[in-house]
Amino acid sequence: MIPPIASNFVAGEGPAEALDHVRDLNDGDVKGILNLLGEHYQERPPADEDADAYVDLVDDIHESDVDACISVKPSQIGLDVGDDVFVENLDRIVDHAAAREVFVWIDMEDHTTTDVTLDAYERLARETDGMVGVCTQANLKRTGEDLQRLAPLPGKVRLVKGAYDEPKEIAYKKKSEVDRMYREYLELMFREFEGGVAVGSHDPAMIDVARELHDEHGTDFEVQMLMGVREDAQFELAEEYEVWQYIPYGSKWFSYFYRRIRERKENALFALRAVVGN
Ligand code: FAD
Repeated sequence: MIPPIASNFVAGEGPAEALDHVRDLNDGDVKGILNLLGEHYQERPPADEDADAYVDLVDDIHESDVDACISVKPSQIGLDVGDDVFVENLDRIVDHAAAREVFVWIDMEDHTTTDVTLDAYERLARETDGMVGVCTQANLKRTGEDLQRLAPLPGKVRLVKGAYDEPKEIAYKKKSEVDRMYREYLELMFREFEGGVAVGSHDPAMIDVARELHDEHGTDFEVQMLMGVREDAQFELAEEYEVWQYIPYGSKWFSYFYRRIRERKENALFALRAVVGN
């Protein structure tokens, strides 16, 4: 069982708890993006197993009344084993999901995976007429070109600042530079995309930029934030805009929880208060 201290950031060990969490969110008009925790499998069996679990999760979403979609990490479904394993498992998940009108997001991992991930996205976006989305990272210098390529496709694109420590030759390293590029890429997206813009950030400044760009261009957008981070803001924003919460669940919760705690002082203080019961 997940200890109460971690349950702020992780919905539970199984899909039933995750779907219960989505039901509560849906009451406040926030929708759910479900992510089964797991990544970097070096062998095929665990990658196939997680792909199977996503197929079952799609059935659960389809058969329930929740407003939810899924988000999959390439290395979780076989990218480290081989590009062909990743593509085969992704196709299997997306075919199953599209037939049941469940949307599939593809998370973006480090820069060595960008091409294969975008190629798979482009093909599936066309084949399913937009039932997939992909993440792009503002810290990568290539992202402007990638966004131009993605703009005419059906589907959705989530812009994040980027979670991976990339080499300085190909990435912006300073926070101020990444923030500047995030704004610039948002401008490009609201200008060039017909819709399907997802703002994957907790940063109030970036959300304000998106609101202004929406007023200027009228382009549809949604805000995406993580479970346990600025949840009050999520519900407040949902009164005006589409808001999706990214919800991790599964037995491999510890390292994810540990990352969230290390990331910010506020989260550590929250965890400490939970322990001392104050
Ligand atoms: P930061 O630059 O970290 O913070 C800016 C401001 O936001 C802070 O000053 C504060 O005001 C507010 N804030 C941020 N965190 C907190 C907090 N914990 N509590 C209170 N306020 C806070 N990265 C990838 O590389 N690939 C992915 O596929 C990917 N998917 C993601 C999906 C979603 C839905 C989200 C939200 C993020 C995803 N990320 C992904 C992570 C992303 O790249 C960033 O590392 C992460 O979101 C932190 O950047 P930020 O924009 O939230 O703001």
